[in-house]
Amino acid sequence: MGKKMDFDHMKLIRQYAGGHRHLITLGRCIAALSAILVLIPYYDLWKIISIAVNGEDTSRISHYAWQAVILTVSALLIYIAALMCTHIAAFRVQANMRSSLMRRILTLPLGVFDEDGTGKIRRTVNDSTAATETFIAHQLPDKAVATITPIGLLVLVFAFDWKIGLLCMIPALIGFACMMTMMGKGMQEKMKEYQNALDTMSSEATEYVRGIPVVKTFGQTVHSFKRFKSAIDGFGKWTTDYTLILRWPMTAFMTCINAIFAFIVIAAFLFSKDGVTAGLILNIMYYIIVTPLITVALTKVAYSGEAEMTLIDALRRVESIMEIEPLENRNTGKVPADHSVELRDVTYRYKDALRDAVKHVSLRIEPGEHVAIVGPSGSGKTTLAELIVRFFDVSEGEILIGGVNVKDLPSEELMRQVSFVFQDSRLIKKSILENVRMAKPDATEAEVMDALKKAQCTDIIEKLPNGIHTVIGEKGTYLSGGEQQRITIARAVLKDAPILILDEATAFADPDNESRVQAAFDELSKDKTVIMIAHRLSTVVHADRIYVCDDGQCVESGTHDELMQSGGLYRKLFDEYSRSINWKVGA
Ligand code: ADP
Ligand code: MG
Repeated sequence: MGKKMDFDHMKLIRQYAGGHRHLITLGRCIAALSAILVLIPYYDLWKIISIAVNGEDTSRISHYAWQAVILTVSALLIYIAALMCTHIAAFRVQANMRSSLMRRILTLPLGVFDEDGTGKIRRTVNDSTAATETFIAHQLPDKAVATITPIGLLVLVFAFDWKIGLLCMIPALIGFACMMTMMGKGMQEKMKEYQNALDTMSSEATEYVRGIPVVKTFGQTVHSFKRFKSAIDGFGKWTTDYTLILRWPMTAFMTCINAIFAFIVIAAFLFSKDGVTAGLILNIMYYIIVTPLITVALTKVAYSGEAEMTLIDALRRVESIMEIEPLENRNTGKVPADHSVELRDVTYRYKDALRDAVKHVSLRIEPGEHVAIVGPSGSGKTTLAELIVRFFDVSEGEILIGGVNVKDLPSEELMRQVSFVFQDSRLIKKSILENVRMAKPDATEAEVMDALKKAQCTDIIEKLPNGIHTVIGEKGTYLSGGEQQRITIARAVLKDAPILILDEATAFADPDNESRVQAAFDELSKDKTVIMIAHRLSTVVHADRIYVCDDGQCVESGTHDELMQSGGLYRKLFDEYSRSINWKVGA
C-alpha cells in the first residue's frame, strides 16, 4: 500500500488518454497562453492611468482601451478553445477508463460481486471516472492558468516599482507557505479518510433504508441502527478534526493574503518621505488594482491542490479494481466426459477470514443423481455451491465436472454445464421476455413461452397487462418473492444446462406458491444432475443422497431413511424442522 502513496497520477491519465494525451498538453498550453493575454490589459490600464495622471496626449487612451478589450476577448476565446481540447480528451479518458474497468470486471470471480462489492464497484465506475473527467476537463486548464497568473503578476508588480513589489510579496509568500502546509502528504491521507467515511456512511444509509420495514414491523426504534449512527458520527468527527487541523494555516493564509493591501498603505507612507510624486501615486493606485489579483491567483492554486487530491483518490479506487486478480483461465480445450460433479478434499477460506468456511470436503455426484445439502445456517452450504461455479477458486483441493477440473474449463463451457438458482436470484428491470431470455439470447419467443409454462408461470403472465412484454418493477407491476422465483426457474429451464444447483430456492415461496415452485423444480430437474441446498427439509426427503454440513465439514451422508435411523445431526435437524412447521412425518 505504501508505495502507492505517491503514484504518478498524470502518467496514469496519459495512459488512459492514449492518442488524446497530446490534446491534454495542447489544452494546458493554450490555457496558459490565455492567462498571459489576460494580464496585458493590466499594463494598458497602467498606461491609461499614467496618461491621465501625467496629463499626456489623451488621444492615446482609446488605443490602449481598444487593445485591452481585444486582448480580453481573445483571451476568453482562447480559453474556450483550451476547454474544448481538454473536454474532448477528458471524455476519451472517461470512456477508456470505463471500458477498461468493464472489461476487467467481466474477468473477475463472481464472488467479488456480493452486495457490498457491487455498490463499491458501481460507485467507482460511475463516480471515480466522472471525477477524473471533471479534473481533466476543468481543473487541468485552470491549474495552468493558476500557475501562470501569479508568475505574470509577479513580473508586472516588479516591472513597475520593485520596492513596492517586494513589500507586497512578503505577505503573499507567507500565505503561500501556509497553503503548502495544508496541501502536504498528511492531507492526502486525510482526503482518503474523507472518501472512506463518505463511503461507509452511504452504504450504511442504504442498509438503513432497506431495514426500515423491519424496524416498523418489529416496533424497533431507529437506535437499533447503531452502525448508521456511528457512520454519521465518524463522518462528523472527521469533519471536525479536519476543520481543526486547517484552522490555523487557513487563518494565517487568509490574513496574509488580505494583508497585501495593508502593506501597500505602509509602502505608500514609507516612500512618500522622498516626496509625493505623480509617479508614486500612479503606482500605488495601480497596485491597489493589481495586488488583489495575487490573492485570487493564490487561492486558485490552493483549490487546484484540493482537486488534485480528490483525483488521486479517484484514480486509486479505479486502480484497486484493476488490481483484483482475475479468474485464472487455462483454456485447455478439455471437455467434460459426463455430467458428474466431484469435490476432492476441498477447503476454502474467504479473503481476510480467520477460519475456513469449507473444510476438506470430498464428495462425488453421479450424472443424473439428485442430492441435497442440508445443515445449520453458516455451515458453508452456499460457499460450497458457489465454489462449484467458481464464484471463488478453492484454497485447497479440486473440483471436477465430468472429470475435468473447473479451472481447466473455459468459463462459457462451465456456464453451459451448470445452471444455478439462488435464493436472491434477481430479476432485472426489463420485460419478462428479456429476463428469461438472458439464459439463452437467441431463444425464440415460443421457446421462452414454453419455458415459462414449464416453470408454472402461466398464471403470472396472464394477470400482467402486457403479458411477457410487461416490464417488471414499472407502473406498479409487482411480483411476489415466490413469483419472481418461478420466473428465475423459467430462466434455468430455458438454459437447460445438464447440472443444476439450487440454493435454498424454495425459501421464499409462500404456501400458495410452494406447490407450484415445487412442480416447477420437478420439471426443471428431469434428467439432470441436481444439487439442492434446502432449509425446508420436506423437500429433500426424496433425494438420492443427503449430505449434512456442519461447521464447514461434511459430517454425514445417506438417504433420508438411513440418516433418520443413524440418529445423528440430520435426525436432530429434521425433528426440529418437523416440530416448527407441525408437519406430519409420513403423512
Ligand atoms: P450457509 O449457506 O450454510 O448458511 P455460508 O456458506 O453462507 O453458510 O457461510 C459459511 C461461512 O462463511 C460462515 O461462517 C459465513 O460467515 C462465512 N462467509 C460467507 N460469505 C462470506 C464472505 N463473503 N466473506 C467472508 N465470510 C463469509
Ligand atoms: Mg446459504
